[in-house]
Amino acid sequence: MLFWILLIAILILSVWAQYQVSHQFHKYSQVQNRRFLTGAEAASAVLRAHGVSGVGIARCSGHLTDHYDPRDNTIYLSQSVYDSSTIAAVGVACHEAGHACQYAEGYFPIRVRSAIIPVCQFGSTFSYILILIGLFLYSQAWFGVGVVLFSLTTLFQLVTLPVEFNASGRALATIEGEGLLYEDEYYGARKVLSAAALTYVAALLTSLLYLARYVMVFLSMGRRDE
Ligand SMILES: [Zn+2]
Repeated sequence: MLFWILLIAILILSVWAQYQVSHQFHKYSQVQNRRFLTGAEAASAVLRAHGVSGVGIARCSGHLTDHYDPRDNTIYLSQSVYDSSTIAAVGVACHEAGHACQYAEGYFPIRVRSAIIPVCQFGSTFSYILILIGLFLYSQAWFGVGVVLFSLTTLFQLVTLPVEFNASGRALATIEGEGLLYEDEYYGARKVLSAAALTYVAALLTSLLYLARYVMVFLSMGRRDE
């Protein structure tokens, strides 16, 4: 019963966080910043402020598809961010530039995150299969391996949190420190980035809840075997 109550609560949080991301982005995509600074210009300002050079800034297609790709060391900004001089564009672009700075500096959580990506992908692909086999055969061993693999995806989401919070922290510190936005505009950018951060928190909570549930099932299987 507690599981379902928590699940519904976290589900509501997830939906609300998703709504906030699109709502805040949409809202502050309508507001031009008074310095007419574009997303691309803002991203390069963050790189400059951190003394990072050699990072590419390019356009990508789609909506809210902005990301930093460490493979070609390039910040990809979507159409509504790259050339746009809105408050939302500056916030998002600075966040992605924050990721580029993390890689350039060898920020510890992002190194851990990169190192565990292959195992975590393996874990998320095979955990459900093993969990289902475990339930079907009523085998604690198969189920247990499935739960261990599932815990890798939880671990990935856990390591993602400091990475995302730090990228937004760098973005906002630069926006404030370099005066990229006026004070009232800064709060708009902060709302956009806080909404995005909340989606990562919701994803971690969902994953943790399922992990706890699986561990409890695992333990109850052990009891019945005795
Ligand atoms: Zn990010």
